[in-house]
Amino acid sequence: MPKKSMLMLFALSLWLIGCGSVSAEDVSACELPAEWPAAYVLESIDLVDTRSGTVHKDQWIAVSNDRIQATSRTDERSEWNELEALDGCGLTVAPGLADMHVHLNPEDLPAYVSAGVTTVRNLWGWPGLKTLIQQVDTKQIEGPTIHGISPGLDGPPEYWPFTQLVMTPEQGRASVRKQVADGWTTLKLYQDLSHDTYLAIVDEAQKNGMAYGGHISRKVGLRLALASGHGFIEHLSGYEVELNPMGQGGAIAWRSIDESLIPELIEMTVASGVWNCPTLAIFSLIARGDAVVSSRRQAFVKALFDAQAPLLIGTDAGIGRTAPGTSIHDEIQEFVEAGISTRDVLRIATIEAARFLNAEGEFGELVSDSQADFLLIEGDPFPDLSVLRSPEAVILKGKRVR
Ligand SMILES: [Zn+2]
Repeated sequence: MPKKSMLMLFALSLWLIGCGSVSAEDVSACELPAEWPAAYVLESIDLVDTRSGTVHKDQWIAVSNDRIQATSRTDERSEWNELEALDGCGLTVAPGLADMHVHLNPEDLPAYVSAGVTTVRNLWGWPGLKTLIQQVDTKQIEGPTIHGISPGLDGPPEYWPFTQLVMTPEQGRASVRKQVADGWTTLKLYQDLSHDTYLAIVDEAQKNGMAYGGHISRKVGLRLALASGHGFIEHLSGYEVELNPMGQGGAIAWRSIDESLIPELIEMTVASGVWNCPTLAIFSLIARGDAVVSSRRQAFVKALFDAQAPLLIGTDAGIGRTAPGTSIHDEIQEFVEAGISTRDVLRIATIEAARFLNAEGEFGELVSDSQADFLLIEGDPFPDLSVLRSPEAVILKGKRVR
């Protein structure tokens, strides 16, 4: 039973037997403050350990300068006595979540934070994004920490705003150099790049030390992309083309697949080291609730997981289908329905995101020196991750924002 509930029971029983020393107001005595100080020790909390998938009871964390400075797991409480103590009311503290596939609209920032998403990866760069990232980093604007990649490089036709249309290998090389000059370190590659242009882009990206990934162009194919150092694949793009006997692509292609081909594709995936962000929930919407499509995609993700192919949790929020923020919980639910344990799903939504971004220790786990982004929830999340949908409080860079 959570400490808060135990206290309430205890207070209630004293009141009922007429002890008189505890008033009715004291029943709700433990309330988290609305405004949090800049530096504090949050105590009387349980801590979610996303690395081991356990909850440590009766812990504390010390927070100042936007960061967790110390935790009861590794540090002495007495060294932090000068900081104000905050009563965590027996709640459980879990790291903020990372949505690793969004299309960020500035007006959506509060929705991400309210849903417990404290890190996002923006999958299609646009001119004002760098400024927005800086404004969030310097706390002029409240929002999740943003990791951005370049505008999409694609062949015609142009689907999305700010697409870098590249029709020839020369244009491909020039576009890569332009993205480098614009300060991007990762390229978004898209679905209509020609074979030769793709190879030129990959070569130029490698020369400039850039990462690259995205969709798999039909003119390139999954096999060549995996062999060419494609670092990440969104939506399981390209797999369905290999599995569908007619070579069709898109959500509906998953209705008809040759399952005997799956093991070889999984093996190639693992060997390549590519990360997959399958965006299951939005595809369930695109397939209009087609249970065959959803279950086949879930089964494929489970097969990737079982083979230890790295996975990311992302929603594709921001293009008008999945809701910014709350849809991460739908994606988490899809991963659980796929048969992946809640411990592993929460690890993927936190630590694995940090590992992908070369930011281990910066977010995704409650350790010293990590950014103080966390949720306060009631009870142990591992029996049912849906408890993460309605946090009691969300803390961003040490400050309560919800
Ligand atoms: Zn997208």
